[in-house]
Formats: sequence, C-alpha cells, structure tokens
Amino acid sequence: MTPTAEGRSPLLTVEGLRAGYQGVAVVRGLDLAVHEGEVVALLGPNGAGKTTVLSTISGLLPALGGTIDVLGGPPPLRRPHLLARRGFAHVPEDRSIFRDLTVRENLRLGVSARGRHRFEQRVEEVLELFPALARLLDRRAGLLSGGEQQMLAMGRALAGRPRLLVVDELSLGLAPLIVERLLDVVRRIATDLGTGVLLVEQHVPLALQVADRAWVLSHGDVVASGAASELASRPEVLAASYLGESAL
Ligand code: ATP
Repeated sequence: MTPTAEGRSPLLTVEGLRAGYQGVAVVRGLDLAVHEGEVVALLGPNGAGKTTVLSTISGLLPALGGTIDVLGGPPPLRRPHLLARRGFAHVPEDRSIFRDLTVRENLRLGVSARGRHRFEQRVEEVLELFPALARLLDRRAGLLSGGEQQMLAMGRALAGRPRLLVVDELSLGLAPLIVERLLDVVRRIATDLGTGVLLVEQHVPLALQVADRAWVLSHGDVVASGAASELASRPEVLAASYLGESAL
C-alpha cells in the first residue's frame, strides 16, 4: 500500500463503494481511508447510511459495488473471526456484550487463542484505559450501567490489540460527560498505539474535536468531507450532520 504524505500506511481504503440491502444501494460512491494513528468520523443524520457502511466494511453485508481493502484485502463475507485475525475489531451499535457472563469473561472473549497466555496483561492494559472497570471484573455484564457496558464493549475490542477499530454510535444513550471520556480514550489509543479508528458518532461537535478527518453522509451520499478542524468551523456542515444535505 502507498503511504500518505505523512508516511502513514492506510489500514482501510474504500473506493466507489455502493452498499445496501437486497441489491438496492442506500450508500453510493463512497471514497474513504483510515490510516495508522488516525481517527476518522463518519457523521450524518438518522438513516444516512452510516451503519450500512460499517457493516459492509466488516463483511456483515456484501458490497454492491466498488472496492474495500481492509488490512490487506477485501472483507471476508460473514466471517468476522477471519477479519479479527488481520487485526480488525468492530464495536457494534448494540455493543454485543454477553450479559450473563462476568466482565472478566467478556474481556477474555476479546483475546484470541494465541494471546490467551497474556490475558492478565491485556486486562491490565484495558484497566489502564478504563479504570472504572477494575472493581467490576467479577460482576455480571448485564448488571452494568450503559456507560460501563460501552467501556466493556470497547475494552473487549481493545483486549485483542486491533490495528483498526470501528465503533458504531459510541454515545448511544450515554451522558455527555461519559461520551467525552470514551472519546478521550479513542484519541489516546490512536495517538499512543497507532490504532486507526473509524467512528460513527451522533455528538458531532465532540466527534470533530477528537477526529483528524470526517465524512458527512446524507441519504447515502457524501455531502462534506475534510479535516475535522476545518469542518467544525463551518456551521452548515454541523447542521447537515444532524439534518441532512438541505442544511448545506
Ligand atoms: P442511524 O443513525 O439512525 O443509525 P444510519 O446512518 O446508521 O442511521 P443505516 O442504519 O445505515 O443509517 O440505514 C440507511 C438506510 O438503509 C435507511 O433508509 C434504512 O431504513 C435502510 N436499512 C437499514 N437496514 C436495513 C435492512 N436490514 N434492510 C433494508 N433496509 C435497511
């Protein structure tokens, strides 16, 4: 792969993507890249197609057109374990934690068989990022608050030391202060560990604060993209992120 001007390699490259359901595209002509150490935000109002993009990148949905290169190849269709082996982790909108298992058992599921002998070290790393989980290790995950469950979902993804992390609606149902803390962690893992992050987020101003670059989708089309700091200074972009392209 060709490194960027800053010398960082792309972990994810999407070109001319058409994505959707039963042959009908709900996202058209998306070009997007995520590099090592970079946080990229995918923004847009409800129904814009953000989750559809993430599901297609993760191989949960087949692409209807265009190309996706994720960590060295196209996503294997509906075989998430193969993508995980490449260093990919996806925190879905519903967080997909196992409510009847303890926090520690959930974290164990995030570590591949090859990493199991380092499990305690991986737990320590996760607790450094999310100290609030330390006193909850033996609690059933179903008993955690929404914010704690999101920390666990992210902690489980990070326990596998992914090179590329995709997070859908991190803030869903959470207080703004918790969202800020979680986004801080997203920024730290990108800057300190070189993880690439693709983030779907509803708190647009907060997302633009931590992201390097952002794309705004509306009804499946890209209506704005560029450096997050530049987009944050354009009120019409913020409006489009909530309301759709009519605001542009
Ligand atoms: P939100 O912020 O509300 O989660 P989104 O930007 O993630 O929205 P998507 O969930 O990707 O949007 O939905 C994009 C479009 O695809 C919507 O019109 C939605 O109704 C449609 N869609 C989503 N899931 C399916 C499905 N399983 N079958 C058919 N259409 C779907």
